Amino acid sequence: MIKKIDHIGIAVNSLEESLKFYEGALGLKVENIEEVSEQKVKVCFLNIGGVHFELLEPTSPDSTVAKSIEKRGEGIHHIAVLVENIDEAIKTMKEKEIKLIDEIPRKGAGGSKMAFVHPKSTHGILLELYEK
Ligand code: ZN
Repeated sequence: MIKKIDHIGIAVNSLEESLKFYEGALGLKVENIEEVSEQKVKVCFLNIGGVHFELLEPTSPDSTVAKSIEKRGEGIHHIAVLVENIDEAIKTMKEKEIKLIDEIPRKGAGGSKMAFVHPKSTHGILLELYEK
């Protein structure tokens, strides 16, 4: 069901500030920057050997990413795994009584579909099921 780790989501206060490190110092290449209005974030994907860092900057104080930064500061927000078929993946999770944050896939960056699995079921990480 899972093909690979697709990206690691990192909550940041400012894309511009964080790119000074990720692009400027690490030399990673920005693949795209876009606003995902449904999640009230601006995201920036950086390629790191076929996997990505996804920098997430909240665009509104009531965005879940803003709340995460408020509670825990900047840092790793989620880990995303690539799935072939997100509807199938969600169905499997539900059959196994795994707690999901999104039972219906949401729209992600670049026309992708995504759903979060609750950290209570993953032993502490926010896991994103991600279909390109
Ligand atoms: Zn993500």
